[in-house]
Amino acid sequence: WPALAVALGLGAIFGILLARSRRMEGPVADLDRALAAGEFKPYYQPIFDLRTGQIKGCEILVRWLRRDGSVVPPMNFIPLAESSGRIQAMTWQILGSALAELKPLLRANKNFKMSLNVVPGHLLSAGFVETLRRKVLTARVSARQIVVEITERDELDDLARAAAVVAELRDHGFRVAIDDVGVGHSGLSRLKGLGADMIKIDKFFVDTITVDASTTTIVEMLVALARDLHMGVVAEGIETEEQLRALLASGVAEGQGYLVAPPLPFARFSELVESRRAAQSGAAVSNDAAL
Ligand code: C2E
Ligand code: MG
Ligand code: MG
Ligand code: MG
Repeated sequence: WPALAVALGLGAIFGILLARSRRMEGPVADLDRALAAGEFKPYYQPIFDLRTGQIKGCEILVRWLRRDGSVVPPMNFIPLAESSGRIQAMTWQILGSALAELKPLLRANKNFKMSLNVVPGHLLSAGFVETLRRKVLTARVSARQIVVEITERDELDDLARAAAVVAELRDHGFRVAIDDVGVGHSGLSRLKGLGADMIKIDKFFVDTITVDASTTTIVEMLVALARDLHMGVVAEGIETEEQLRALLASGVAEGQGYLVAPPLPFARFSELVESRRAAQSGAAVSNDAAL
């Protein structure tokens, strides 16, 4: 029977080791492997002037380009990246790629802005502002051209701490946007207290502005509030001309949405910016000719 006990013991140990290695091949290990392989890529969605259509900047939206050729949307991996503590490495990786790709554009057009989504836990972590500053400085890009987008969430409950980080970012020239305003956790006191430069009105209101008079009232209220607090307004998820006209009528100046373009990989995004620029200068030339 001692042999049997040894066999059982070994079997149990082997079983535990097997279970552990299975766990290590799970979704978190997958994230680590993808990070090491550089599979997280920045896509860029243009942010445009609603009146002129001119592209004023872009938002970086991460995509996971897997080896099998599939493209995984952020909502399928950001929550896990956040809960497993991988979001910080991922964010810096995406920013690094985006700075490398957009540097020529950012340096050629000092008014062009690039927005980066940062989760509250990362924003409030030690050394965030310093690391951001170092990366942007190293790329020789102006902090004024970088917008940090923060989503209103529970973590921002410590308003004083969040406001202090926002103030520190602004001291260094960065701009700060409050994302997804109007849905979820959006106390008006927080909108005021954070001291951000702009608010982004969630797609929910853009979807309903053409069908629902109370949405128009809410958007107009947000625009008035933003004006009082010296904040800009960007609308998200504009898909139709009708929505664009309604937003303009409500006083919104800038927006993004499939109407102009979805988030695009770098090559296609820069083609779009180039062709727009050519069209704009073409229009300027023909205007001059008309005069
Ligand atoms: P968000 O920051 O509010 O980004 C806007 C989302 O709306 C993006 O979804 C964008 O593709 C989508 N969108 C823009 N225009 C339209 C439109 O006209 N129609 C429709 N149907 N959708 C539109 P996406 O790229 O799937 O990202 C979802 C969310 O994931 C983002 O919401 C953001 O909260 C998060 N996220 C994306 N990239 C990153 C990242 O690099 N870091 C972090 N922390 N979060 C990210
Ligand atoms: Mg965003
Ligand atoms: Mg948003
Ligand atoms: Mg949103």
